[in-house]
Order: sequence, then structure tokens, then C-alpha cells
Amino acid sequence: MICHFCRRVPCTVSLNGGEICQDRKPANDNFQRGDRVLIVPPARVLLTPHYYARLAIAVSNLKLPRRKIPDWIADYIYREDITFFFASGSLYEIDDEEIDYAFGGDLSFRWISDFKRSAGTIPLNSPHHTIELRLRLLALAFWIHSPEVARHFAR
Ligand SMILES: [Zn+2]
Repeated sequence: MICHFCRRVPCTVSLNGGEICQDRKPANDNFQRGDRVLIVPPARVLLTPHYYARLAIAVSNLKLPRRKIPDWIADYIYREDITFFFASGSLYEIDDEEIDYAFGGDLSFRWISDFKRSAGTIPLNSPHHTIELRLRLLALAFWIHSPEVARHFAR
């Protein structure tokens, strides 16, 4: 499949998600110089034991209390200078309620604790599809917060 953005096959960003090169940004008058374009990591990448394990280590390394994690995600994903796309080329507009929706109405703090505690252990089974949105939002926040870390998630 040809990458929608750089028109290349294969393209690591379209396969794994992440930041596309400045010179491959889609033509759009709304982009300002320096704005970033991030491709959403697809389910087939997010829902793997290795991706889950590397993301768990990164979250654990933040050294934040579990209740602060959703705020931390919000600080990075709701920014004017970053535009998210799916690899298909469609815009990913992150809803105001996306974090609440991802983590459950009452926010699943226990899941965050369990996730952090699992750091260093590769799960035997692939993560369930119902946590895809959690993993996606965490991964995107890392792509903004520390791309040098996020780059290794799908290695
Ligand atoms: Zn590409």
C-alpha cells in the first residue's frame, strides 16, 4: 500500500504511526511553519505484546501518580500546532471527551496502575481491542512529549 502522505512504499510512518517529515506534510494552507503532523499508530501495531510492553515502561518512567496520567495525556494531545491523521489520510479529530471515553467514564485508574506495574514484562497475549484507544492516546502523547522514546515502541 502506497503511503498517503509521502507516496512511498514501504513507509515506516504509515505502517507504524508517528511523525511525518516536514517536507512531506499534506498541502494545506492551514498548516503553519513548524506545525507537526502525526500519523496514528494503527491497531495492528498498538495491539502487540511488544508495543504494549514498551509503552508500559515509558509510562512507568514518567514517575507520575496514576491520577495524573490522563491530565498528562491531555497536555500533549490538545494542541493547536499538531494535526493528527490516520494512515489512510483521513483527519483524526480528537474529541474533548476522548480521554474519558478511552479510560472509562470514571477513568480506569486501576488499569493505569496495573499497566505501570506490568512494565518490564512482555504479555503472553496480544492486548484486547477494547484498550486500543488507551494505547493510542498514550502513544500519541509520547510522540509529542518525547519522540525519541516513541520511536522505539514499534521497533
Ligand atoms: Zn509515508
